[in-house]
Parts: sequence; C-alpha cells; structure tokens
Amino acid sequence: MTSWQDTSAATMMNTFGPTQALLVSGEGARVRDSDGKEYLDFLGGIAVNSLGHAHPAIVKTISEQAATLIHVSNFFSSPPQLALAEKLKRISGVGETGRVFFTNSGTEANEAAFKLARKFGGEARPTILALEHAFHGRTMGALALTAKEAYRAPFAPMLGGVQHIPATIEALDAALDETVSALIIEPIQGEAGVLPLPEGYLQAARALTRERGALLIIDEIQTGIGRTGEWLGFQSEDILPDAFTLAKGLGAGFPIGALVTTGAASEIFTPGNHGTTFGGNPLATAVAGTVLDEIESGDLLINVREREAQLRGAIAGLNSPLIAGVRGRGLLLGIALTRDIATELVPEALAAGLIVNAPNAATIRIAPPLNITSADVDAFVAILDGLLAAHAA
Ligand SMILES: *Cc1c(COP(=O)(O)O)cnc(C)c1O
Repeated sequence: MTSWQDTSAATMMNTFGPTQALLVSGEGARVRDSDGKEYLDFLGGIAVNSLGHAHPAIVKTISEQAATLIHVSNFFSSPPQLALAEKLKRISGVGETGRVFFTNSGTEANEAAFKLARKFGGEARPTILALEHAFHGRTMGALALTAKEAYRAPFAPMLGGVQHIPATIEALDAALDETVSALIIEPIQGEAGVLPLPEGYLQAARALTRERGALLIIDEIQTGIGRTGEWLGFQSEDILPDAFTLAKGLGAGFPIGALVTTGAASEIFTPGNHGTTFGGNPLATAVAGTVLDEIESGDLLINVREREAQLRGAIAGLNSPLIAGVRGRGLLLGIALTRDIATELVPEALAAGLIVNAPNAATIRIAPPLNITSADVDAFVAILDGLLAAHAA
C-alpha cells in the first residue's frame, strides 16, 4: 500500500518540503491525523483559524451561502459583500471615505497596495520603502517588498524601486524623501520571528509620511482581525494609515483578503486600474462577515488579551533557562529561546501532540484561535514544559 508520504511526494510540487502529518479532521483547537492521533493546534494554520476548526457558525454560513449564491463576478454586488465592506469600515475607523477592494489572499492584497503606491507616486515618486526582515508575500510585487534574500534571489530581477530600511525612526526619517510614494510596514513581523516595531514607531511613521506626502500602508495580514487583542495592530498606537491589507484571520480558513483605504488613497484607483475575478464573492464575504460577528458577539478581543496574560504568566512561571522571553502581542506570540533549538522543538512538539512552528532558529511562534480556552492554554504550557525539560537536562 502506498503511504500518504509517497503520494504527496509523487503529486505535490515540492515548495514546503515534506509535510508533517496527514490531517483529516478538526474541532475547536484540536486536529486529528489519519492515525487518529490528536494535536492541540497552537499555530492555527499560521494565524488563520481564528475561530478554531469546524466552528458551527462558519459551517452554517458556508452551507447556507453556498445554497444561496456563491459567485457572481464583480460586475455585480451582493449583500454579503456590501455588509462585510461596511463592517470593515466600522472596525477600522476609516470613516466615510473608507473603501475596500477584496482579494483571495494576502499577497494579492499587497499587490493591490503596491499598484496603489505606484499610481499615487507616478514618475516623481518611484521609491517604496519597506523594512528589513519584512514579509509581504510571494508574488512578484509582494516579493519585491519582502526582505529575505533566500526568497528573492532565485527570482531576480525584482521589481524596481523598493528600498529596505532598518526598523528605526531615525532610518525612516533619513530615507523618507520626496521620491518616496509609500512606506509599507507590518505592526509585528510575524514571519521574521514575531518582531514588534519599536515603541512609538507607528506614530512616527504616521507623522513623517503625512508631513512628506507619502502613503502609509500597513500590512495587517497576520496581525489584523483581532489577533493582537485589538481589531487591527495599528490601533495599539491609535493611528490611521492611508491603506492597510488583510487576509489570514479574516476568513478564519476561507480564502479572502482585502485592501482597505481612506481619504485621498480611496480615490487613486479608477475603473480599469485593478480587478479580480474571484475577489469579494458572496461566499467568501459571507464567511468573513460571520467571523467578524463571532469575534464581536463572543467578546473575543477580551479573550485574546486575557489568554495573552495567562500565557505570559505561565511561560514566565516555567522558569526555564531555555526561555529568553516572549515577544509579540495578543495571540501572536514568539517564545524566544536562549539556544537555537526551535527547529528541533517543532517535531518534538508534534510527537507530543502539539502544533507550533519555528519562524527562526531561536523562536517558537504560537497563533492559536482567538477563542482558545483557559484550559487549552494550560494544556499547551504543560506540553511546552515537558519539551523544554527534556532539553534542559
Ligand atoms: C502571510 C502573510 C502574507 C502573505 O499572505 P498569503 O495569503 O500567504 O499570500 C503577507 N504579509 C504578511 C504580514 C503575512 O503574514
């Protein structure tokens, strides 16, 4: 009999390396593999499964909307699409001038943002600033914004005009001249290892871009939709960017992304400038609408902050010499290790029934569902304790 590993190797393009298990079902924060083994899912599909697996409200919305209207093309509006756009305007505080462009993924939302910056800047402002260690996606525009050389090098030449700068206010002040159309930043760099921006950076970025006539674009693909304990990461410093992008948690596992603009940035694209066939279809927007409703009705932003406090307290309480600290905010946390053992810990965790990942050699990233329970946090900490104890010996 052929194993699923053999089938995978014989059929799937090798972009992620060998996969770790054949997962067949899930419920809440737990998934099950083909051998019936259960895992506590503290990665949440990389900050995607914001309501856990098989959430009844999501199942209901998908079933009902699928039986009503799945897709119509953007020659037409649909009630779920308009309702979601209104909700996104409300939770983000973009106001009357707020506008939404729906996509199917994060990288597509950043492609739209890239084009927005290009059209805004024109020939006079050909430069887009991004940060060192940034991750903005894998398509050619988003890849040009992404810093990691290993992701870029095989696909050179990159789209021109992007300059990567250190994440300091001084570097921004120095680089932000009259040739810059936009600055694009992540509030917390998730893929790089859950690296937060320096305190005050968002405020300074808002003030400097406004003063010098550049757009401030915030990539909220990993941090947005409740992940940090606020609806959006930029709300931690009480600013409003000209544009921001969403994906991951927005659909809680159903593919959807968005570019949201406000003020003059909402007037940049005119008919014919940009488009999508699937983006914003009734099914995807109905699911995302339900995600927002569930976060609100379940007071999940409060749960995120409470579970963060519980996690931080419990991790500190382990007193492990292997733990250097905890970075991040809300339920996007990086457990910083004192030794480069993160990539060893991931398969050990899996064997112990826990899913996490290692964005770099010295960091374990966790991004559990926003509705994670106190008991599941305790279960996570107990497994982590065991894994670290085995290494400390
Ligand atoms: C995941 C991610 C992306 C890319 O999203 P995809 O849906 O994988 O294309 C872009 N930016 C950030 C910050 C991300 O975390």
